[in-house]
Amino acid sequence: MNLFAGLEKFGFKSTEEVDLFAEEKSSAKEAGEEVEKKAEEPKEEEFLLEKSIRCIVCDKVFKTKVVKSGKAKRLEPDPDLRPRHLYIDTLKYDVSSCPYCGYTALNRFFEHLTSAQIKLVKEQVCSNFKAGVQSTNPTNDYDKAIEMHKLSLLNAMVKKAKTSEKAYNCLIISWLMRGKIETLDPSNSEEKEKIESLRKEEETFYEQAYDGFIKAISTEMFPICGMDSSTMDYLLAVMSMHFKKYDIASKSLANVITSPSASRKIKDKALELKEEIIKELKQKK
Ligand SMILES: [Zn+2]
Repeated sequence: MNLFAGLEKFGFKSTEEVDLFAEEKSSAKEAGEEVEKKAEEPKEEEFLLEKSIRCIVCDKVFKTKVVKSGKAKRLEPDPDLRPRHLYIDTLKYDVSSCPYCGYTALNRFFEHLTSAQIKLVKEQVCSNFKAGVQSTNPTNDYDKAIEMHKLSLLNAMVKKAKTSEKAYNCLIISWLMRGKIETLDPSNSEEKEKIESLRKEEETFYEQAYDGFIKAISTEMFPICGMDSSTMDYLLAVMSMHFKKYDIASKSLANVITSPSASRKIKDKALELKEEIIKELKQKK
């Protein structure tokens, strides 16, 4: 249809098909591109600050990088609650490691050591620890972050930490592997190999985390690693589903759905997951 038919009398030559909004679209696009160019991606270090802390084991002061609170924009977390932020993976910075003696722990646990635990760390970590070259990088890359979290897990074992602390540490390592995988390109054959081996490691740590949490909920009091019982039940449901343990998944979800204290948001997530389980079980039959 010719939109401008009838205007010939005004001296406008009738054209056949026109796209009324063609120019508008392209100019809007150009404007959009300009905006994008202007707003450059912020660098990871802009979200960080250096904090000095005193090592509770060797009493020396060292610097650690922490994420400025409230600066990074939260994105929708993964189904298993792995937190995600725009421009930065904050999980890389939730650990502190003393470069002098090797004592390392997740930040939330770093300062909470009994004197008996300090003794264990001194005997089994500090005495063997070889100080590496201190990194001058303004940010932690995934390899560095994974290394620090593994060192933190080793410390947790040595100091006979609670089951939940070790499980949580494993969960974060598996999440870091997942984060690293997201930075690799599966169409590149070398990186594809890396992805495969990282997936295996991610799975191993995920399983350790799962076994640990299952044990922790029957031996520890809530909150566990900052999680209330509904959050933990929901997390366990997602993980149970991953390991195809549908009975545990259903039980954990029922706990969330019937809990008088669970928030609407987590209940909705639980109901969604319940539908998924029902679907998966139907497909299996
Ligand atoms: Zn130290």
